[in-house]
Amino acid sequence: MAQADFRSDTVTRPSAAMREAMVSAEVGDDVLDGDPTVARLEQRGAAWLGMERALYVPSGTMANQIALGAWTRPGDEIVVQRWAHITTYEAGAAGALHGLQSLTVGDRSGRMAEHDVLAALRPSYIHCPTTALVCMEQTHNVAGGRVIPLEEMRAVAQVARDAGVHVHLDGARLANAVVASGIEAPVWTETADSVSLCLSKGLGAPVGSLIAGDAAFIDRAQLVRKRLGGWMRQAGVIAAAGLFGLENNVGRLADDHRLARQLAQRLVAIDGLGVDPDGVETNIVMVTVERPDFDASSLAAALAEHGVLGLPMGSDTLRLMTHHDVGPDDVARLESALHAVLG
Ligand SMILES: *Cc1c(COP(=O)(O)O)cnc(C)c1O
Repeated sequence: MAQADFRSDTVTRPSAAMREAMVSAEVGDDVLDGDPTVARLEQRGAAWLGMERALYVPSGTMANQIALGAWTRPGDEIVVQRWAHITTYEAGAAGALHGLQSLTVGDRSGRMAEHDVLAALRPSYIHCPTTALVCMEQTHNVAGGRVIPLEEMRAVAQVARDAGVHVHLDGARLANAVVASGIEAPVWTETADSVSLCLSKGLGAPVGSLIAGDAAFIDRAQLVRKRLGGWMRQAGVIAAAGLFGLENNVGRLADDHRLARQLAQRLVAIDGLGVDPDGVETNIVMVTVERPDFDASSLAAALAEHGVLGLPMGSDTLRLMTHHDVGPDDVARLESALHAVLG
């Protein structure tokens, strides 16, 4: 029997219609003279994001790292949320690849108070590193997919810009924020000078991300992408999947959000699990395991024996995500597996 995989929205497999688009994609050598499908994705993505230009890159991590490389020089400092993907899940790339030092602000709520960001900005002083970039994240992954309020992002952007510091938005799941809030992407991206977007998560593509900004930023971003080895040849075959996702799979994120909320409501009744349905704003459900006999890993292992997968994050948190390839039947299966395991 197929597994019900709630570990991540990255586990989706391309649908038949998406594969069809990949098979019939027009391609060329993107490095030599351009790939027409990559070009269409980049134009379409830039328009959707409300940015001048976009580049297609292999992953969300590379998209973020291209932005860091494009905006900074070695020895510079970036101000970034304490639990951001850039801080937590990019294997120290900011230091390893670009010689950057990070100052982190905020907590697991994913929020960045404007006064904390202001306090983190360095004065122009020979002894201090130069603050080169402020990084935000939307939706915030570790904070359980929460939508950071627009007013807060505007306030942070204002503080940065008043100091002449650029802003990068890790918008891996920006499409989820757009659908959850009803606020279009260009309104969110007004708060940033560069933005990344994952095509391989809720949008259902097997691979790929975009990094977007103005023309001058993209010129620098192209150089960094080249250095990182992220400029691909007949990439239209995979870009077609990203284009299909952007054109067809944004609206359906509302289904993922509804299902995540329902999932959380079903788990409230189960003893020994801490879950807050009102905190579920998008497609991520964070479950606290409050049992003497289970931690997150052992619970995940027990659920896997019932064909249901969740992702342990730390000792007491199990992350469950909804996406294109799970539905109400899978939620029912998760619920009965939890009853079977926890009694
Ligand atoms: C998944 C994710 C990324 C990076 O994505 P990869 O394609 O796995 O490299 C970046 N930022 C956030 C917030 C993410 O959730």
